[in-house]
Amino acid sequence: MFGRAPRKTENNTKYYEVLGVPQSASQDDLKKAYRKAAIKNHPDKGGDPEKFKEISQAYEVLSDPEKREIYDQYGEEALKEGMGGGGGGHDPFDIFQSFFGGGGGPFGGGSSSRARRQRRGEDVVHSLKVSLEDLYNGTSKKLSLSRNVLCTKCKGKGSKSGASLKCSGCQGSGMKISIRHLGPSMIQQMQHKCNDCNGTGETINDKDRCPQCKGEKVSQEKKVLEVFVEKGMQNGQKITFPGEADEAPDTLTGDIVFVLQQKEHPNFKRKGDDLFVEHTLSLTEALCGFQFILTHLDNRQLLIKSQPGEVVKPNQFKAINDEGMPMYQRPFIKGKLYIHFTVDFPESLSPDQCKALEAVLPPKPSKQISDMELDECEETTLHDVNIEDEMRRKQQQAAQEAYEEDDDMYGGGGGPQRVQCAQQ
Ligand SMILES: [Zn+2]
Ligand SMILES: [Zn+2]
Repeated sequence: MFGRAPRKTENNTKYYEVLGVPQSASQDDLKKAYRKAAIKNHPDKGGDPEKFKEISQAYEVLSDPEKREIYDQYGEEALKEGMGGGGGGHDPFDIFQSFFGGGGGPFGGGSSSRARRQRRGEDVVHSLKVSLEDLYNGTSKKLSLSRNVLCTKCKGKGSKSGASLKCSGCQGSGMKISIRHLGPSMIQQMQHKCNDCNGTGETINDKDRCPQCKGEKVSQEKKVLEVFVEKGMQNGQKITFPGEADEAPDTLTGDIVFVLQQKEHPNFKRKGDDLFVEHTLSLTEALCGFQFILTHLDNRQLLIKSQPGEVVKPNQFKAINDEGMPMYQRPFIKGKLYIHFTVDFPESLSPDQCKALEAVLPPKPSKQISDMELDECEETTLHDVNIEDEMRRKQQQAAQEAYEEDDDMYGGGGGPQRVQCAQQ
């Protein structure tokens, strides 16, 4: 071995043999040979990883004209010693993937998912209580929230050097597969997040841990967000702060979303752009006229009054235009304000009051009952009832009876049509 020129006679045919092509092979021949051999020997398809590595290495060198020339002249060793600008040493899966293009190569489902797609972080949803006044007038609310941000010291790497190790628990995939035996010939495969690395696929060397975040990659930050509640916004409407949710490495930060939740108002109810208010009149007001002051949601005092001679009946509605809610993003347009009137009747009247009223009110029906007719009548008693309750109870009773009848018809045992097992 002594007097020999060191590189001249090194093996410079092995790569051609690995790919099964002659030394005169064209680039096209090499490609075809690599494609065939790489698919056949890919570890995901049960191939030998060493063999796969060899094939990749051979192709990497021979497909590069410069490296191929060095290899042809001096052999493998020459490339390892750096003449070809760092030959060898490339990940065979990278070569495979760049050859077949991304998206997992010819086997469909990402063979070695090294290039993990960027995940999208979760949105953080808060409900934001607002009053009807807030929605009428518009307002802004400052809210202090704490959220995760990428550690400023390690830029979210978790380590001082920026390096991380492939998690040994899951081989870097972040997922573990467990197999359950369900029977002699049945197994169930379950995929779950790797606990060792919390699904990240990597671990950090203890000595290399970032001192600021202790390898957590993120730290807590207090942030004040100012939420603008615009005039006319609705209960349930969302106000979004894009990209303000928790930060995480390799993750597109989600949004913070505030969902407006309108508190009940003691006086006003809202339906779309309209407002409803209840008002009770005394019988005298209903008959002889009224006026009252209604304080609006912006504290304006509205004078509300009847027309002279007008009588308001129980359950009657009246509306005031342009005193409803402002329209969202067109706050100068407003809905209606509806007033629902209830009339408070007196519980009883004295004979004198009756006489006085009869003197001014329209007369009673003219037909009087004669003494003779009275003699033939039976006495009755009028009871007070809550008619809504009575009707509800009657409906429930009817439903119950119908149900029991149904049960009788089918003998209670599954009915006339039994469910058949679908067979294919
Ligand atoms: Zn893991
Ligand atoms: Zn850090």
